[in-house]
Amino acid sequence: MYQIVCCVGSIYTCRQLRQHAESEFPYLCPMQFIDTHAHLYLEEFDADRSEMMERAIQAGVGTFLLPNIDRASLPSLLSLCDDWPEHCLPMIGLHPTSVKDDFLNELAMVYQQLNERKFFAIGEIGIDLYWDKTHLEQQQIAFRHQLKLAKTLHLPVAIHMRNSFEQVFTIIREEADTSLRGVFHCFSGSIQQAKRVTELGFLLGIGGVVTFKNSGLQEVIKETGLEHLLLETDAPFLAPYPFRGKRNESSYIPLIAEKIALVKNIPLAEVAGITTANAWNLFNIKNKL
Ligand SMILES: [Zn+2]
Repeated sequence: MYQIVCCVGSIYTCRQLRQHAESEFPYLCPMQFIDTHAHLYLEEFDADRSEMMERAIQAGVGTFLLPNIDRASLPSLLSLCDDWPEHCLPMIGLHPTSVKDDFLNELAMVYQQLNERKFFAIGEIGIDLYWDKTHLEQQQIAFRHQLKLAKTLHLPVAIHMRNSFEQVFTIIREEADTSLRGVFHCFSGSIQQAKRVTELGFLLGIGGVVTFKNSGLQEVIKETGLEHLLLETDAPFLAPYPFRGKRNESSYIPLIAEKIALVKNIPLAEVAGITTANAWNLFNIKNKL
């Protein structure tokens, strides 16, 4: 292994030096992106997963945060992280659409996993009132449990909300303290809602919806500083234009970044640099090795 002495006399290996430069000086490095929310372990990718991963890496998307859904999704998520440890970073959590009468058993699984290996976030968690309102009370309990867990472990949270901004925001505001950090994933709310989220110190996860005509999200992007934004695909769902309606994948992240650059009238490199630095900071990726 080669060693390099930097200008202040510290000794780095090549890889450490690159990581140091990427985290401290993202502008000086080739453009790179992080997909902060991708379900790359789902069966939609079974036929061509390796090629899809290589396409993303070639496109400059070299790091993927994988949000969990429930007990059933976890084995394939963890085995993908074991196969691509330099690229895939696991989250652990119980998704609101999987909160049913047995949710305490599912939460026990989350607690147990946290004793067994390193996770980069609690996610995805939240409230979903689009598909089914039957278990709203259980969803609220599970969400609050997992927020408290994140605070105890000093981990960020990836929040899912669908038709549930007020319900989610009420609980977040009640639980908010200096140690609670996170991202509202796949944000597609109003400018007012974006302001309330960022004022609490949370980030907005921006995905393919920003490329859709009349989504309203472009107005939100114009009004929101880049320091509040993360890039994500939510693959295999919500592919950006011109792939709308097709399977989404992480190599499409630059399409989302380009749209943000266009809307804000700034260079693409600025979008890449700042959103990547935001992700490094939120998920503490510096300490991944
Ligand atoms: Zn998701």
